[in-house]
Amino acid sequence: MSNPTNPTPPATVKNSQPESTTTPPERFGFPKQGSRSLSYWLQSVQGDPLLNHRTTPELPKSADIVVIGSGLSGTLITKHCLATWPDKTVVVLEAREFCSGATGRNAGHCKPDQWRGFARYEEAFGTQHALKILQNEQQTWSDLVQYIRENKVACDLWVGDTLDVPVSQEAANFSRHSFERYEAAGGRVDHIQVTHDPAEAARVRNFTELFVLRLTGAQRSRIKDAQACYSWPASTLHPWKLAAHVMRDNVSKGANLQTHTPALCVKESPDTPGKWIVECERGIIECSKVIHATNAYSAALEPSLRGVIRPCPHMCNRVEPPSTFSAQRGLQNSYGVLLSNEALFSINPRCTADGVVLFGGSNPGQKQFEEWIERHPDRCVDDSLVDFGCITDAVQTFAESQLVGWRDASTDPEVLYGKSWSGIIGMSADGVPFVGQLPGLPGQWICAGHQGHGMARIFTAAPGLVKLMNGGSWASTQLPDVYEITASRMKGLRQRLAKDMAVPRL
Ligand SMILES: Cc1cc2nc3c(=O)[nH]c(=O)nc-3n(C[C@H](O)[C@H](O)[C@H](O)COP(=O)(O)OP(=O)(O)OC[C@H]3O[C@@H](n4cnc5c(N)ncnc54)[C@H](O)[C@@H]3O)c2cc1C
Repeated sequence: MSNPTNPTPPATVKNSQPESTTTPPERFGFPKQGSRSLSYWLQSVQGDPLLNHRTTPELPKSADIVVIGSGLSGTLITKHCLATWPDKTVVVLEAREFCSGATGRNAGHCKPDQWRGFARYEEAFGTQHALKILQNEQQTWSDLVQYIRENKVACDLWVGDTLDVPVSQEAANFSRHSFERYEAAGGRVDHIQVTHDPAEAARVRNFTELFVLRLTGAQRSRIKDAQACYSWPASTLHPWKLAAHVMRDNVSKGANLQTHTPALCVKESPDTPGKWIVECERGIIECSKVIHATNAYSAALEPSLRGVIRPCPHMCNRVEPPSTFSAQRGLQNSYGVLLSNEALFSINPRCTADGVVLFGGSNPGQKQFEEWIERHPDRCVDDSLVDFGCITDAVQTFAESQLVGWRDASTDPEVLYGKSWSGIIGMSADGVPFVGQLPGLPGQWICAGHQGHGMARIFTAAPGLVKLMNGGSWASTQLPDVYEITASRMKGLRQRLAKDMAVPRL
């Protein structure tokens, strides 16, 4: 198939930096205005007026709380602020359309890490912290599913077994190492089915076998080179529809949502000690509390976060399955396909919706994409990028060589693989999010740096942040200690970044 190796020519990016010829500059930037790619999720809601909603035509001049960002973080933080302080005024500022950042552009998984990251977390933070991170992800998934069910949120929720399938010996060895360390440390594994037998892991050669397996509830990968298969409960969902449900409820309870209103800077109020001024092109808002729910863009607004939270563009591909993978014959599980060199395909088959298959993750083409971004740092917040050749080619190669039966139906590759979009991940310098009060800035709070994994973190991080804002202790949040933003964590990270030491990126 023909894909351009390089994406389209640069569009204007606010706060962009010149191309570097020596050391790469710090990457940061505000949400890109102008053209953008349309994700599978955003494409399906283009008629929804919430995208451009402004609760009042004018920007309020003052508020108790200003939340910056309307992704899942900003939306849930607003919900918990309104529940905690029903009488306080809350304004939500969004630079572009409602929820048009990573939440509206992700791969649609809420997949709690139940063993895979354990070895790395243990190395970075120690056994107890690593256990706590994985427990928190399980709790987050369970809270998210409970909220969706209790509130009957129409967001295409799928609950089922997610499969992690290493397809190289290197990936299989590392997976086994992490799983065994997790088990040895006392991690809960009774809900995880594992086979280390490659033949068993790959099985399903024909439709009859698939049908029998489904009847017996057995999960096998249908991936030719599977070396092992780990399966445990997880979800996929329409993330924009979930955020929109929460935000509509927030607005009905008094929140003032202002889309297309970038916050340009936050400064101390010259008139009222202890208050902050949030400056926008449309006016200024004086407030007591500011919440940075700006994820990948956090460092553009708050300079102390430069290098600590970095924007990192990622691609997703929307693949039309061939007829051999339609309806009952389609993939019925979500996947993490684990390859060598830490590459990963995350696969989300929309088996309870329109049957398309979404591919995300750091696929083998991501490295080349990242090298391209390093050479073009002005594109670090550019989510208009589509169809980066090496990423789409990796998806096609994988599907055709590994999914058993995929090639049995002939279809034009342009039809199958021709649609993709980009989004910007907020990479944290030590691999875990930042939650709490910004050091040295009393009244300014943050929940950001979700490392491409926010759906399995935000449902507990957001209420945790609001507990802290209400005077609660860190322990009351029940979040992993290593998520807390503290002066010493920031100092340590800055020292490591300044020394250009290798900071573990999880
Ligand atoms: C391609 C891709 C695939 C992913 N796949 C998954 C997945 O399958 N599972 C998973 O768990 N996670 C995934 N993630 C990560 C996940 O989407 C994020 O961790 C999560 O959505 C972060 O939510 P958020 O609300 O913190 O940030 P965002 O959703 O990015 O929201 C931040 C918002 O703040 C706004 N904003 C920023 N700066 C300003 C400003 N100065 N003024 C006003 N508004 C501002 C932005 O426009 C944006 O709308 C993926 C991310 C990407 C990009």
